[in-house]
Amino acid sequence: MPFIITDPCIETKDSACVDVCPVDCIHPRKDEPEFAETTMLYIHPEECIDCGACVPACPVAAIYESVDATPSSQKDLIEANAIYRNGDAALIAQAEEIVKAHIASHPELMAVPAAERQAAHATH
Ligand code: SF4
Ligand code: SF4
Repeated sequence: MPFIITDPCIETKDSACVDVCPVDCIHPRKDEPEFAETTMLYIHPEECIDCGACVPACPVAAIYESVDATPSSQKDLIEANAIYRNGDAALIAQAEEIVKAHIASHPELMAVPAAERQAAHATH
């Protein structure tokens, strides 16, 4: 079961998780050209080794430990994490479309500051 990045990463995107990931499965990194164009970061579900190092590193608690642990309001972003591939413009666009749809369909969550958004997942 891979780890999943969810919506507190939107607007935060500080790459703290990238710095601690032992297998470089979180993209885009700051040194990759895609970084400027993406709304959030994504975890490659097949490359993630479930080590858990990224969870405490994230300042906004955006990362859940599994598909099952991901709250219902964030389930759409599981697919965004799974689809995203650095260097593939079509797949990047597909992942970003899911994120844009998520933003559009969850105005109540997006109105919560990123640092408090994870706590709001339980009630939205
Ligand atoms: S759980 Fe480990 S391997 Fe998976 S994304 Fe987080 S730091 Fe990387
Ligand atoms: S540490 Fe959290 S907020 Fe920062 S890039 Fe990673 S998932 Fe996004």
